Amino acid sequence: MLSVEQALEKILGYVDVLEVEPRPVLDCLGQVLAEDVYSTINIPPLDNSAMDGYAVRAEDTRGATEQTPRLLRVIDTVAAGSISECEVEPGTTARIMTGAPVPKGADAVVRFEDTDETQRQRVSDEIGILREAKPGQDIRRAGEDIARGSLVLSREVVIRPSEVGVLASLGRSKVKVIRRPVVAVLATGNELVDINQALPKGKIYNSNSYSVAALVQRYGGIPKILGIALDSESSLVASLRKGLDADMLITTGGVSMGDYDVVKDVLVKQGEIAFWTVRMKPGKPLAFGMVKGLDEAGVTRNIPHLGLPGNPVSAMVTFELFARPAILKMMGKKNLAKPVIEAVIEEPIVNSDGRRVFTRVIVGKRSGLYFARLTGPQGSGILTSMSLANGLVIIPEDKPGVEAGDVVQVMMLDWNEEMG
Ligand code: AMP
Ligand code: MG
Repeated sequence: MLSVEQALEKILGYVDVLEVEPRPVLDCLGQVLAEDVYSTINIPPLDNSAMDGYAVRAEDTRGATEQTPRLLRVIDTVAAGSISECEVEPGTTARIMTGAPVPKGADAVVRFEDTDETQRQRVSDEIGILREAKPGQDIRRAGEDIARGSLVLSREVVIRPSEVGVLASLGRSKVKVIRRPVVAVLATGNELVDINQALPKGKIYNSNSYSVAALVQRYGGIPKILGIALDSESSLVASLRKGLDADMLITTGGVSMGDYDVVKDVLVKQGEIAFWTVRMKPGKPLAFGMVKGLDEAGVTRNIPHLGLPGNPVSAMVTFELFARPAILKMMGKKNLAKPVIEAVIEEPIVNSDGRRVFTRVIVGKRSGLYFARLTGPQGSGILTSMSLANGLVIIPEDKPGVEAGDVVQVMMLDWNEEMG
């Protein structure tokens, strides 16, 4: 039986980084930048005011105090977005708003609070400066954030909201990124009914297609839901074909030892099969291979196929462990691991058969320490336990269990922002 690491290494050996394409900046959130981005402009483009106030020649304010204001003649008012035609000559000043370009001649800004503006009853062409200004005071220099010609973002950077903002500040509407993988999602099982239908006796709703598609989306891929295949080779082959134009195919169910578990049989016939069991719980049966065939447009395809177990919890846990890193690798990401923290476990967990156990827990923080408690019964069909959990405690295969109070490793599924 393969270990989790061995299985993951094999899978990653079959997936490649995808191609580069130009995309509108707002579509690139979470994608990897595929070009070095240089600035063609200075940011800010001109020296401008950091305050609402008066643009002055600093030397004109020498000796100014509340008792001995320095009086200056107001020659103009400059708003952000406009440029003053005037020059601030000795003895004069221009009223200026935050972000407005500093007029010629001025070398400092005195904020309104340090003038007598509010004490004056009516708008006057004179202002009293109540405090000395140093040259450069409250002026943001041209290029102080980004200088023209400089490298602003390097390739391989993951685009977050701040990078979207930086790109927009450079006037870039599109950038080159590694494209998102399209992941075809196929549920298998005679017992399954789609969610927009009435539920006949003996059937269950297909939840896996939706939880898996949501995971694909969360990690940056584009899900393509193929619906439900029956537990027969012909149904499976017909459905698989619809997904062959994707970058990866994920099926759920049909990989165990039951009479109707035909996914692995189809993989054997229609591809390069690596069917295996992984030393983990939940999620022991897992199939992986390359599936070959003609897609619906008649083009020959050969794409990685991950056959996840059918149990709803097993499907999600194995997705996190194997499909997520594959998707991230295709997107050009380097950090493929979920964050793992140390927490104090509040209940014992038994590991009866030497597999790596992933136990659903609720992690919280008390007096600076993380604590983890079980979500309740851990059956791999209890999908609501995944909904309660924000982490998975990892019990190593060689450990018979842990006691309450032990420090354990927890793979975080969600960080606090999602958990309220
Ligand atoms: P299997 O791996 O096909 O034997 O399925 C294991 C268990 O998971 C069975 O109880 C199935 O009914 C259930 N199951 C399989 N596929 C789905 C699905 N798409 N949605 C919900 N439950 C499923
Ligand atoms: Mg089944």
